[in-house]
Amino acid sequence: MESLASLCKRRGFIFQSSEIYGGINGFWDYGPLGCELKRNIRDAWWRDMVLNREDVVGLDCSIIMHPRVWEASGHIGGFADPMVDCRVCKKRFRADQLCEEQNQKLIKTDKGFALPEGIRCTCGSKELTEPRAFNLMFKTFVGPVEDESAVAYLRPETAQGIFAQFGNVLAVSRQKVPFGIAQIGKAFRNEINPRNYTFRSREFEQMELEFFVKPGTDPQWHDYWVEQRMKWYQSIGLPAESITKYVYAKDELAHYASACVDVMYAFPFGVQELEGIAARGDFDLSRHQQFSGKSMEYFDPDTQEKFVPHVVEPSAGVDRIALAVLCNAYREEWLPKEGPALEAEPGKQPPEGYEARTVMRFAPRIAPIKVAVFPLLKNKPELVEKSREIFTEARRRWACFWDQTGAIGRRYRRQDEIGTPFGVTVDFQTLADNTVTLRDRDSMKQVRISVADLIPELDRRIGR
Ligand code: ATP
Repeated sequence: MESLASLCKRRGFIFQSSEIYGGINGFWDYGPLGCELKRNIRDAWWRDMVLNREDVVGLDCSIIMHPRVWEASGHIGGFADPMVDCRVCKKRFRADQLCEEQNQKLIKTDKGFALPEGIRCTCGSKELTEPRAFNLMFKTFVGPVEDESAVAYLRPETAQGIFAQFGNVLAVSRQKVPFGIAQIGKAFRNEINPRNYTFRSREFEQMELEFFVKPGTDPQWHDYWVEQRMKWYQSIGLPAESITKYVYAKDELAHYASACVDVMYAFPFGVQELEGIAARGDFDLSRHQQFSGKSMEYFDPDTQEKFVPHVVEPSAGVDRIALAVLCNAYREEWLPKEGPALEAEPGKQPPEGYEARTVMRFAPRIAPIKVAVFPLLKNKPELVEKSREIFTEARRRWACFWDQTGAIGRRYRRQDEIGTPFGVTVDFQTLADNTVTLRDRDSMKQVRISVADLIPELDRRIGR
């Protein structure tokens, strides 16, 4: 993780927020490459979940909503993590996480929670307070007067905006149940213990689908979405073996939920959640119906029945997926003059005749920069001009990079390190026969290809 975090900073993927002031815990900024990576993850999700389907439409809600939304959703009363403090070192922990790390489970009681026997602070002390509920919502005030009536919250999830607008979307979209509403946007949680780099942040981005179904069909749709979502992670380059399911036992489910499966990724710091897929019944719509007094019923024109739809919710985090993608892509290799690369041994120099390279093996679909274009030499105007032409043509379609400085080998290495899958070099032969070399980042193989075939070939390799 340290090498990865250092590369992310050095090459402009991820910076600490407000770094010049010493940073702020739980907040991160995405640099020029990081914001492209995140955009590609979002776009891939939107394409597959919304644009490539006829039964899902999009929505973009405000971050601050009427505070009643959070009463109805249960977030004001219930959206709390149990927190414990160490009386000796004064550190604060999430009680469930502290127990988990010591292979124990937090005990549920009538009043809240209790710590099992033998739980210690990370400093070794047993002097821990009783777990207390800590609400995770960020509070603010709307308007000039800072009194109770002006209190509002930054949304802790995007889902509730979808439920609150269910009626409007239904009225305008000509959709019939089963259908879904999707949203991507920022969410905020005042996490007790932000950690593991960007994994648990206080400001993050969610991609959520609320898929509304006929009561009774929940299990089939839940299975369907679990399968779809598992496949999707492979489509963005995460290998099947790195992605697992965590199926909730009945006693781990929220009282309204009938099923929940988490999609887990094997991070270097442990197997952790990327996405939760829950069958939430009619809990959310019914609560909003009750709190707002507005009907959330659906009239089924085929059966002439009226019902409050049930919902299946795949809810994923952009930042966590970006982190998984970064972890998966990162490789240190030793390259011989010829033949296959060796995996580098940490902290060691490559053997005689080998050269070290760091490479980010992003799937082309989500690589921040797709194509780098190089003139072989920068002081040959014909080469520069031809390469600029190709660059201009390519960047109308993809994020591209043009680089004329340094030896060509070094330019390739710089692109390998940021995960650019394809390199196009314009050399003297280009001027004679209008062909260029196309280099593949992973195999490092180069082929000669005519300029006329270049864009279609890149299009085929990059895919969508
Ligand atoms: P956890 O148990 O890890 O706190 P959760 O189960 O409460 O998370 P959900 O409410 O199901 O998380 O949120 C859905 C998704 O939103 C998560 O799978 C994750 O990808 C993302 N997410 C939630 N909290 C955070 C956070 N603090 N930082 C980054 N992403 C988050």
